[in-house]
Amino acid sequence: MKYPEVRNYVGGQFVTGTHPLLDVYSPGDGSVIAKVPLSSAAEVNAAVVAAQAAFAGWSALPIKERVQVFYRYRTLLERDIESLTALITEENGKVSAEARAEILKSMELTEFACSLPQITAGEVLAVSRGVECRIERFPVGVVASITPFNFPNMVPNWTIPNAIALGNCMILKPSELVPLSSTRIAELLHEAGLPDGVLQIIHGGKDVVEAICDHPGIEAVSFVGSSKVAKIVYRRGTAALKRVLALGGAKNHLIVMPDADVEMTSSNVVASMTGCAGQRCMAASVMVAVSETDHIIERMVSEARKIVPGRNLGPVISAEARDRIERYITEAEQAGAKVLVDGRKTVVKGKEGGYYVGPTIIDHVTPNMRIAQEEVFGPVLAIVRTKDLDGALKVENASPYGNAASVFTESGGTARYVMEHASAGMIGVNVGVPVPREPFSFGGWNESRFGVGDITGRGSIEFWTKSKKMTTKWNREHGTNWMS
Ligand code: NAD
Repeated sequence: MKYPEVRNYVGGQFVTGTHPLLDVYSPGDGSVIAKVPLSSAAEVNAAVVAAQAAFAGWSALPIKERVQVFYRYRTLLERDIESLTALITEENGKVSAEARAEILKSMELTEFACSLPQITAGEVLAVSRGVECRIERFPVGVVASITPFNFPNMVPNWTIPNAIALGNCMILKPSELVPLSSTRIAELLHEAGLPDGVLQIIHGGKDVVEAICDHPGIEAVSFVGSSKVAKIVYRRGTAALKRVLALGGAKNHLIVMPDADVEMTSSNVVASMTGCAGQRCMAASVMVAVSETDHIIERMVSEARKIVPGRNLGPVISAEARDRIERYITEAEQAGAKVLVDGRKTVVKGKEGGYYVGPTIIDHVTPNMRIAQEEVFGPVLAIVRTKDLDGALKVENASPYGNAASVFTESGGTARYVMEHASAGMIGVNVGVPVPREPFSFGGWNESRFGVGDITGRGSIEFWTKSKKMTTKWNREHGTNWMS
């Protein structure tokens, strides 16, 4: 085994338990690289106890002191960027440039956390003579973050720096498919001076997630993953009277107008559908081609054919994922869609055990086909054709998801119309992957997000804190007024 058995992290110590172990595969060649424990409710409880013990001390520190840890953490991410990048490639499969981008984004997220003292300075107003109203923010308490396989470093860093800088103590439950990066996150935070017990990591699957939702000592749960599980977590966590923010899956529509710039559009759409092997919740999944767009589709086909699996396209996460993606393609083909670029049965020389799907572009998909409706999560683009823009928006609006939508056009009026009428939380204009950069928040609509608020940026502050409204009177005037 290339890596030692992955261990839980509780109270500042890596701990070995007696849990059943699951193999961790490297999707690039299918080899087993580690084993991860499938923990139970008992380990979640131990993590809560450790977090509760640390909370009084950590939350009492002024925020300016707490963020010092994250200044140091950011420099450690930068110092170790090469090894952290290589680890992501190994456990998740994404190519080196994509893995590196993940660390760069983690650094940006940490920079935002460092700015929280500036952003969260309270509000105060003299509402009448000698009487002041003020609002101050307080941490929620012990919180949990449950994360997916597709960004082993970045998604944990969506929540860890902000939640912890704001004074909370956290239990992280990483995806059991990619548990290795989280160990490095814990080590770097320890090196940066994070006190023991402020961050715990409990590995495992469903049992750990359910125990987190049920545990009365956990006040807030954030979740990122599929809509199916987001709904389970949202329902179960709120039933236990916790605040829950659960981000789900996606089916992002890119509307391409006939006036769109051919080169920019084709390269952006293809990059969006193939980046991270299409395993991004912001990936292009459906392209709605409005009217005469054959010239753009032709260019996209030649762009997609230039991509070399194993070199600039990584594998998907598992053999099951590969088989599922290929089934979607075959089913669409059998239903009458035309496969313009076919990534099925892709084999990379020297990595025959890897789970590769080549770029796939399917034209003449109709909105009622499964491939047009469900999240495929692979490097596959379904092209649905419509006569006009309203027809395209109708297709986009019908999706139960609502993470992102983009329009490619040279017309400001058309762009504005889509910005207003697309039913998604993040909109791009001539941008294939419209991820908001800090300080702007990340979060979708509809079945791509359950709960209120966003998971990063300013939008996350409300989720990770409780506000206290205080009214004080320090003059000696007697009597009452109309609001006393
Ligand atoms: P997933 O839902 O299978 O797993 C996410 C987490 O839930 C993991 O930690 C997993 O252990 C746990 N889990 C899995 N099944 C469970 C169950 N039945 N009960 C309780 N917990 C369970 O998601 P994934 O396959 O790891 O990640 C891919 C999905 O995540 C895609 O749908 C993608 O769109 C989505 N995603 C969304 C965003 C976003 O911001 N909206 C970001 C990244 C990924």
